[in-house]
Amino acid sequence: MTPTAALLAALSLPLTTVTLGYVLLCWVRPFGPCPHCHGTARTTSRIGRRTRPCRHCDHTGLRLRIGRRAYNTLRRLLP
Ligand SMILES: [Zn+2]
Repeated sequence: MTPTAALLAALSLPLTTVTLGYVLLCWVRPFGPCPHCHGTARTTSRIGRRTRPCRHCDHTGLRLRIGRRAYNTLRRLLP
């Protein structure tokens, strides 16, 4: 085995593991916490530091993961 092939094999295993883990996560839990409000569904306004409902997640605290959104789009596009 050449050093290049050994390096490629060593790099491909972690990448494959991380990718399959993310695919599994998108399948099991398609919704993740909203990055804007961190899952609390409330955000602070700039004036007065009052809390108000988060408009990015429609006051749910959840957002569809990017991988699941891509999967849904591909499923709609492909017959
Ligand atoms: Zn939110």
